[in-house]
Amino acid sequence: MFIPNAKTETVPSLWNDVTPPRQICESLSGDQQSDVVVIGGGFTGLSCALHLAKSGHKVALLEGREIGFGGSGRNNGQVIPVLSGPEPDQIEARYGETGERLVQLIADSADFLFRLVAQENIACEEEQTGWFQPAHSQGHMKVSQARVKAWAKRGAPAQLLDQQQCEKLLGSKQWFGGMLNPTGGHINPLALARGMAQSCEQAGVKIYENTIVERVGKSGDGWLVSTPQGRIKTNAVFMATNAYSNELSQTLEPQTSRSLIPVTSWQMATPPISQQLREQIMPNRQAVSDTRGDLQFFRFDARNRLVTGAALMVPINAQARLKTMVGARLAKAFPQLGTPQFTHVWSGFVGMTPDRYPHFHQLGENYWSAIGFNGRGVALAVAIGAEIAKAIDGQDMNTLALPVSKPKAIPIQPVARRVARLALPYYRWLDTRTPK
Ligand SMILES: Cc1cc2nc3c(=O)[nH]c(=O)nc-3n(C[C@H](O)[C@H](O)[C@H](O)COP(=O)(O)OP(=O)(O)OC[C@H]3O[C@@H](n4cnc5c(N)ncnc54)[C@H](O)[C@@H]3O)c2cc1C
Repeated sequence: MFIPNAKTETVPSLWNDVTPPRQICESLSGDQQSDVVVIGGGFTGLSCALHLAKSGHKVALLEGREIGFGGSGRNNGQVIPVLSGPEPDQIEARYGETGERLVQLIADSADFLFRLVAQENIACEEEQTGWFQPAHSQGHMKVSQARVKAWAKRGAPAQLLDQQQCEKLLGSKQWFGGMLNPTGGHINPLALARGMAQSCEQAGVKIYENTIVERVGKSGDGWLVSTPQGRIKTNAVFMATNAYSNELSQTLEPQTSRSLIPVTSWQMATPPISQQLREQIMPNRQAVSDTRGDLQFFRFDARNRLVTGAALMVPINAQARLKTMVGARLAKAFPQLGTPQFTHVWSGFVGMTPDRYPHFHQLGENYWSAIGFNGRGVALAVAIGAEIAKAIDGQDMNTLALPVSKPKAIPIQPVARRVARLALPYYRWLDTRTPK
């Protein structure tokens, strides 16, 4: 039985059970020097470090626990080339030409990830089988239609499936059609994080683990990054700590750390299912997340386990309640499956921002942060890490997809994070309404 706990050293999850282990790197000690310091060993930090090292920079990456300890090692592994909130028109209206570049980066993000995996030869059970967002009501088909139109206008190969095509794709009569983007798919997220760390090391990045950054301060023309055991003097810093920003240190950039709300997302996996059922349920192995606010999502892993999950308002007796609730949901959607058992239940924090946009900050000269992927950070975090690497490399900001804003702490953020999960009944109510 797996006890979910955001603070354990090794996260107990399906991914931890099926992913080859790696040698943990030493902690930082003493006084060191580097061109760039990246804080956080998830997809965002690893991608930035890798791209910088490949363009000739000396990079140190400091991870408070282990590579993949945060959302990157715990997620559902769905590679999704859209945001969870803002639509392309809204992003462009808000940010103008930079917004247009950001929309293009999002549209290309799944391809970007799968290309990187191929180039770096990372073994992460990658399957570019497409991402499907089925409409959970006839009314939500209007949302799917508008999305397909908006993304197709920007060159994304989005397609609208009708109810019959949807039933064939899912092996379920429960949904009404929806948006298919064939560039999406799924990966084993912990294997991707560990593989990216290996690529980083091969490119010359010095990784330090079990090294919690407590402070970044000015030092001459550059920065001094301080941890309890050592310090690094550097010209540039990238803070890539997302939903775990305030979990490991309360002193590192509180304005930024408290500008998002870490919301618990529960993940679960069934035992491998039979080949006969496999051929009936999602026979082409897409990653699926529907149009609900109280999201229903699932995909197969490489061993034909269904990997799924849910949100809970109150975490009391979580494992038993999740097994009952999600088991019943799956049985309703896929009657041929019966009521499934679950071998793994685990959780992680999703970094939600009040406006549902990811936020990019310049915290000082050559000091950046990128946080708030709102549950859609597998493809996006990898692409944004590479974009921040270009900014640190000195590329003209007028060519980059980074609308930079000032960090704004959420008032009484510790209370807000407790209240956030109480919004779940509201999302469930919204799910029953016909969208305008
Ligand atoms: C349960 C769950 C399911 C999800 N499912 C999906 C999905 O299917 N598809 C999708 O697109 N997105 C999904 N997401 C979101 C996605 O996982 C994240 O957006 C993405 O992994 C963020 O990557 P990151 O590198 O920015 O942050 P993280 O992976 O969280 O990495 C941040 C790292 O910073 C470290 N850190 C924090 N503070 C410090 C410090 N002071 N010093 C040093 N290190 C520090 C942490 O230990 C952590 O390892 C999911 C998230 C969760 C939690």
